[in-house]
Amino acid sequence: MSIKKSPFLFNCADLPRRAGEMREFELNIDAPEDFGLPLFKIDPTRPIEIDLTISAVSEGVLATAEVRATAHGECTRCLEPVEEDIDQSFTELFYYQASRPSRSKSSVPEELGEDDSLMMEGDEIDLELPVRDALILNLPLNPLCRPDCLGLCPDCGVKWEELPDDHGESAHPKGDIRWAGLEKLQKELEEK
Ligand SMILES: [Zn+2]
Ligand SMILES: [Zn+2]
Repeated sequence: MSIKKSPFLFNCADLPRRAGEMREFELNIDAPEDFGLPLFKIDPTRPIEIDLTISAVSEGVLATAEVRATAHGECTRCLEPVEEDIDQSFTELFYYQASRPSRSKSSVPEELGEDDSLMMEGDEIDLELPVRDALILNLPLNPLCRPDCLGLCPDCGVKWEELPDDHGESAHPKGDIRWAGLEKLQKELEEK
């Protein structure tokens, strides 16, 4: 049985375990399917680009990174496709397995909270969590094509901005709903 290796595992064997050592890498990681929010996902057909700097500190490896990816989904009001380029960064400390996190040590940057105690697995660091946080925490739950998107007329499904100003209740008298589809079709034919 083989378990597929996570694309987010990064091997730090090239980095000597001496405080002050530093290495830089440019990574392209294939975004997994379903990486994102239910309505707004990271495009799986494009790589997640990561400019990664790893530095050795006494407790482990400090990873700082710029992360770029594209998210896509549909406008939750008008269903038009929405795309957003994401450019975020993170700093994360991965502890050597031998050294337990201790708050008394001083080389850990203060901005790292006490919960940030990710462990290395041998020479590997798992970038999935920080990458996920950087890309996804800032995504809108309800993506919009524009902040002021007016959405669709609930009766005919046409975008409000494509409808005349006086389009309203009177355009769809109750009981006449069967005409809506025909009217839409007629409109489409006229446009051709
Ligand atoms: Zn919209
Ligand atoms: Zn309508």
